[in-house]
Amino acid sequence: MPINDVEVTRNILDRFFKEFREHTDVDVAIAGAGPAGMVAARKLGNAGKKVAIFERKLSPGGGMWGGGMTFPVIVVQKESKHILEEVGVRVTEASGGQYTADSVEATAKLLAGAIDAGARVFNTMSVEDVMMKEGKVCGLVINWSAVEVAGLHVDPLTIGAKAVIDATGHPSEVCHIVQRKAGKLSTPSGKVEGEKSMWAEVGEQTVVENTGEVFPGLFVTGMAANAVHGAPRMGPIFGGMLLGGEKVARQILEELG
Ligand SMILES: Cc1cc2nc3c(=O)[nH]c(=O)nc-3n(C[C@H](O)[C@H](O)[C@H](O)COP(=O)(O)OP(=O)(O)OC[C@H]3O[C@@H](n4cnc5c(N)ncnc54)[C@H](O)[C@@H]3O)c2cc1C
Repeated sequence: MPINDVEVTRNILDRFFKEFREHTDVDVAIAGAGPAGMVAARKLGNAGKKVAIFERKLSPGGGMWGGGMTFPVIVVQKESKHILEEVGVRVTEASGGQYTADSVEATAKLLAGAIDAGARVFNTMSVEDVMMKEGKVCGLVINWSAVEVAGLHVDPLTIGAKAVIDATGHPSEVCHIVQRKAGKLSTPSGKVEGEKSMWAEVGEQTVVENTGEVFPGLFVTGMAANAVHGAPRMGPIFGGMLLGGEKVARQILEELG
């Protein structure tokens, strides 16, 4: 069969616009495809929810690909290793009650798990704002990352959602936006408290505790949860990110039914 170049273009456009249009209204819209966002997406997808993840970068996966300082190994604790094993990641027992996994394998399989559960990942799209009606976040405002990088003045598009998750990692970008525009999050100061310096033992615990709804319709998980609540970072130990993703999915399922 001869290959028609223009047909290649048409096939890309037909499939992309069909799928994008189908995801302009979802149950859950997730900003950021790091480990926390990917785990949440898989759990929600498996529960039958329509999920879209918007990821600024070309490669979804966030900070997990590189392990610690680009040594491609991550550490997790016993309580969280089941989340990796559910998607077929080979986990090895190490010292100090810790477990290790190949960071590339873990990232790839968490991503594949989210996709297989029905979540749609839209890469090279940045979340630049939320939709808010009657005091509730009800969707995301997105733009091409290339538009953002070039600093072009181009109006964005909107995605309706029953729940929104900020899984943007350290910068906690969606929470910053909501704090700035709505004035108050459910934190002690009502603002993003700001991430504290490294303390893995505390950070790993608080990242799960701090996962939750911080404004009507807006949930935060992963590293963003600690940044928003003023808790420590924890470096290349990823159990809290995985458990945070699992917890936020559970909370949203309880809320949406
Ligand atoms: C690129 C990168 C490399 C890192 N490397 C290391 C490392 O080598 N060692 C280490 O200890 N820690 C590293 N970290 C930090 C650590 O990996 C994170 O703390 C951990 O991955 C947090 O997981 P998370 O799921 O909360 O979010 P992250 O893994 O941080 O993922 C967040 C994702 O959200 C995306 N995002 C952010 N804002 C927006 C937006 N507005 N719209 C759409 N998408 C958005 C980001 O591109 C990213 O993919 C890195 C983080 C990043 C983002």
